[in-house]
Amino acid sequence: MRKKPLIIGNWKMNLTLKEGVAFAQSLRDSLSGKNEVLCGICPSFVSLRDIGKVLEGSGIYMAAQNVHSSENGAYTGEVSAPMVKETGCTHVLIGHSERRNIFGETDAFINAKIKAALSVGLKPILCIGEKLNEREDGRTEYVIKNQLKDDLQGIRADEMKEFTIAYEPVWAIGTGKTALPEQANEVHSFIRSILAEKYGKYIAGNVYIQYGGSAKPENAYELLAQPEIDGLLVGGASIKLESFLHIIEAASNP
Ligand code: PEP
Repeated sequence: MRKKPLIIGNWKMNLTLKEGVAFAQSLRDSLSGKNEVLCGICPSFVSLRDIGKVLEGSGIYMAAQNVHSSENGAYTGEVSAPMVKETGCTHVLIGHSERRNIFGETDAFINAKIKAALSVGLKPILCIGEKLNEREDGRTEYVIKNQLKDDLQGIRADEMKEFTIAYEPVWAIGTGKTALPEQANEVHSFIRSILAEKYGKYIAGNVYIQYGGSAKPENAYELLAQPEIDGLLVGGASIKLESFLHIIEAASNP
């Protein structure tokens, strides 16, 4: 039996506190009584607490977009896992390509962030994916395999159950270029095989693997029709309620 699709909206640095709260209220109202799809949003840090209150009891997940690896300390401008947890977050994005490529986050740092998140019961959504030149050089699998190896170093099988992996080819993020559904499915299948080698087939089969990269209402249905695509991590198309709801609707009609 297929899993319920998991649709998460990554708002990035968009929507103010007021806008975010209004969005969350409308999302909650629109999805009330519907449970065919698991869904969530990733607001900015400053909106988490208020949006957490709006979403409480709704079943809609809330994820932070990032977290620091230390519990506290002299890290000006950073936010720790216990702080994020207290706002009502259930999940946290870790290793988003914008964090890796704009802010220079390494796999070792990402691994430490994952451990910090798990230590307070936050479920990691680990983002991985190849750059355009890596795909063109035929190195997609090599890159994915290494990211998984380094990011998941020391993560146990019982912890792996809490994970979502988001496959986000960097060349498809915010560019309007979507991976072909079959192309994405192939990489998802490869990711699952790596997880199966490390954690066994059962756990690998249960891990959610989302696709991210210019997912939108027009392509959501086709992407989700692929057997290995368990859900979508949506950036640009998640900051307008109408398009986010259209994606959720596409996910609820398999
Ligand atoms: C993302 O930021 O995770 C993402 C997939 O962005 P977009 O949908 O805008 O490509």
